[in-house]
Amino acid sequence: MKKKFVIAVDGPAASGKSTTAKGLAKKLEYVYIDTGAMYRACGLYALNKNIPLSDLEALKSMLETIDIKIEYSNSGNKIFLNGEDVTNRIREEEITKISSEIAVIGIVRKKMVELQRKMGENGGVILDGRDIGTVVFPNADFKFFMSASVQVRATRRWEELKARGVEISYEEVEKELIWRDKNDSTREISPLRKADDAILIDTSNLSIEEQVEFLYNYIIENMEKK
Ligand code: C5P
Repeated sequence: MKKKFVIAVDGPAASGKSTTAKGLAKKLEYVYIDTGAMYRACGLYALNKNIPLSDLEALKSMLETIDIKIEYSNSGNKIFLNGEDVTNRIREEEITKISSEIAVIGIVRKKMVELQRKMGENGGVILDGRDIGTVVFPNADFKFFMSASVQVRATRRWEELKARGVEISYEEVEKELIWRDKNDSTREISPLRKADDAILIDTSNLSIEEQVEFLYNYIIENMEKK
């Protein structure tokens, strides 16, 4: 692929976006940027520093010193928070919740969007998140919005957690997912929403391979028009 497109993949939690975006990035030899990991790193930082999310002044200073780096590799991104590898830590349940809470705060989003635009400015990137096609890159060359039923997504997440050795019931996972869907899609700033020009993909009955193929074929078939 010679052209250096910007590709946006949005959708709710566990809709298959990150695995698909990763697979597609490998196929296209593009860089994959997991923007959710950036909000997770912010949440972890606030937690480590004991900053209440209502303390905007403290959050403002935190954002001045925060250093989030993504190391790209074929086996997946590594996330560094002020030099420390937090790749696994940010996947813990406690951080999942705080990431969605901190993501409603305007100054946090402003800083993350700024960083994401910088990371993607030269193209050749696939970003996954909630607001990539609507806010971060409204002029992205390709926009996809992935979705699946709550049951399918909760089952996926539950199996993922079990495989990692986390002891949690299906009901708890489903409850957390429903809470996060609501929090992400009803917030005032940059709520989770399908961009009008995004291609909707229901992944409920698709395998990861089929999802990657679908996006890849769509891009190949439509790239001349870009
Ligand atoms: O994608 P992931 O589940 O890792 O994202 C964690 C949280 O970060 C989401 O629940 C959402 O609140 C927030 N997020 C966001 N905007 C993005 C990516 C993630 O608000 N572009």
